[in-house]
Amino acid sequence: MRMPKSLKGVYSTAEVLYEWQREAIETAFACKGFNQYGSREIPNIALQCRQGNFHVFTDMVFLESVNIEQEDRFLVTSLTNRVMPLIRYEIGDSGSLREGDCSCGSPFPLMEMEFCRSNDIIVTQSGKRIYPSYFIHLLDDVKGINQYQFVQNELNRITLNIDAASGLAPGLQRSLQQRITNEIDKHMTLEINPVEMIERTRLGKHRFVINARPN
Ligand SMILES: [Zn+2]
Repeated sequence: MRMPKSLKGVYSTAEVLYEWQREAIETAFACKGFNQYGSREIPNIALQCRQGNFHVFTDMVFLESVNIEQEDRFLVTSLTNRVMPLIRYEIGDSGSLREGDCSCGSPFPLMEMEFCRSNDIIVTQSGKRIYPSYFIHLLDDVKGINQYQFVQNELNRITLNIDAASGLAPGLQRSLQQRITNEIDKHMTLEINPVEMIERTRLGKHRFVINARPN
């Protein structure tokens, strides 16, 4: 479908926007893709500009980054919600505030996010923390996958649920296992579980990586 020339941009929200998704969106809509950061409780926190930087809506939120348990976590105070005040609300995301100006000219200050929530991080036996992007890139060259999800149920075991209509390439499990052994932890085992569909969360989100171990 040809998109109208008047289309200036497409913005995504509610889920993490991965680079390959942005590329697909930009190709399909023939315009730039922008990532918006917000939540159901506090919708407008920051938005990406044309330079790809995140500017904080300081007219709508007061955003702080505070080191809690060795992680720079965001605390958000809504300046617009007069019905249910949320003050220094720990939203569950991490990131930091950035000094300096952006070449786009926007006066709103900059922030940087780590694009995941703490229950998206796989933690190994030695305490190494692996961010979701690692697992997403693991499948970069694997063709024919409709949907997938990595789940860590036990300390040394990750299950990869895959919905692949035409079946999986032989040897996939072995090659992924080899990379995980070499790059993550030699005790970590990967199990592939073919599924027909992957359930979304109660709020309708798809999660690519889940750390399902009890805290
Ligand atoms: Zn900017």
